Amino acid sequence: PVPAVRSLIAGNWKMNGLKAASSELDAILEGAAQLSSGVDLLVCPPATLIAAFADRLAAHANSALPVAIGAQDCHTNAAGAHTGDISAEMLADAGARTIIVGHSERRADHAETDAIVRTKAQAVWRAGLVAIVCVGETQGERNAGHTLDVVAGQLAGSLPDGATAANLVVAYEPVWAIGTGMTPTAADVEEVHGFIRQTLTQRFNGEGERMRLLYGGSVKPSNASELMAVPHVNGALVGGASLKASDFLAIAAGC
Ligand code: PGA
Repeated sequence: PVPAVRSLIAGNWKMNGLKAASSELDAILEGAAQLSSGVDLLVCPPATLIAAFADRLAAHANSALPVAIGAQDCHTNAAGAHTGDISAEMLADAGARTIIVGHSERRADHAETDAIVRTKAQAVWRAGLVAIVCVGETQGERNAGHTLDVVAGQLAGSLPDGATAANLVVAYEPVWAIGTGMTPTAADVEEVHGFIRQTLTQRFNGEGERMRLLYGGSVKPSNASELMAVPHVNGALVGGASLKASDFLAIAAGC
């Protein structure tokens, strides 16, 4: 039998959000109280808003809300001469509980290799936080029939030893589906998620069976329930549709 895994709906705001966006967070917190008890929410705003959002969450009247604040990236080191960078320890101090590493935009725009992503995941753990590690193929790689090879290579290279169901979440995000409105078919998602589950279970045994696997790439309220019903999909990493509280909550309600 497949072990029961709590769903996680994570919002990746990317480089969007000014201070006024705290009203969206308030709407998410209000709506979260209405959700089924089987789903956790994570809001990853830009780094500039993390402390304010974490403070707002902590001050909320309902302290039992299944909502956490996260970050989108971190440096590998804890501190030092790295102008403009932010360490996992600083993000933890600001109130982040989870950090996304290895998003395809970071891999492409900042030349992050699997080895860098792996070191960043270790930095996340060093700070006591949960790492969401992203993998996924490009359109060219899919067309060439290399999807599973690419994902296997990214998993082998990006995941450190010592991953557990408590400290690691894996997000499968086909690069061609991000921000494009295109999504793989449910059958394609099932194939890749089943493959990721098998790979994680082979390497991490029982922990791999229980790790949360998120699908990401053009998730929106109209396609969320179909995607979330796919075997071994335990939630979503949502970009564009996470910017509006009503859409984000509707996706979570579809779990
Ligand atoms: P999207 O982005 O939902 O806007 O496609 C997903 C992501 O990049 O995490």
